[in-house]
Amino acid sequence: MIIAIDGPSGAGKSTLGKMLAKHLGLLYLDTGAMYRAVALSAIRKGIELGEADLVAKNARDAEIELKGEVDSLQVFLDGENVSDDIRTLEIAQAASVVSTISDVRRTMVDLQRKLGEQSPKGCVLEGRDIGSVVFPKADIKFFLTAKPEARARRRFEEDTAKGRVSTYEQTLTEINERDERDVTRVDSPLTIAEDAVVIDTSELDLSEVFEQMLTKVSESKPLAEARTK
Ligand code: C5P
Repeated sequence: MIIAIDGPSGAGKSTLGKMLAKHLGLLYLDTGAMYRAVALSAIRKGIELGEADLVAKNARDAEIELKGEVDSLQVFLDGENVSDDIRTLEIAQAASVVSTISDVRRTMVDLQRKLGEQSPKGCVLEGRDIGSVVFPKADIKFFLTAKPEARARRRFEEDTAKGRVSTYEQTLTEINERDERDVTRVDSPLTIAEDAVVIDTSELDLSEVFEQMLTKVSESKPLAEARTK
């Protein structure tokens, strides 16, 4: 079973994706973490992010792995645990830039499909192009969204809890910049897949959204079929 979750930053994709994967016993793939690892690798090697060919070649050569349980998923780059290093503001912006490079996307999409298909029980993938490009035939597609102010507030609270220094205004500006890049890029822009279930999480709390998602999943074809067998 493949569950696609797309949407802009701060809409709750990661938290809810993890909750669903855990509840259903599926693999969880944070595809944004992969673009972050590509960006980190390029920066560490002193590659200009504007040098698309070099960034893309470096992405092909990089070994990016996601290991561990859903709740403690760790990201490895060439064997090194970079889970904390990829969560900075600088890397978030850089990931948003490298993700506009088509060759980088091709490499990541291939890897994401491979990991999703290999997973015995199935996979929850979270990103921007999962339902539209990576798994257009996903069993169920969610598009989570929320007003920019609500998304910035959540991201700001998360960052503050993790001890990162930023202001709400900075967070809002940063989120708006990344959204704009995601929506306007030529290759695989952030769009709502035709058959996606759209949930606006602005006014809902986590458990309400989770319940809505679970209901949709239980109505979906693979689970409905399993029940009749
Ligand atoms: O989700 P997260 O904020 O970690 O993603 C980092 C960046 O990677 C996003 O701003 C987005 O530009 C890019 N991304 C993407 N396609 C995905 C996942 C993330 O372009 N499937």
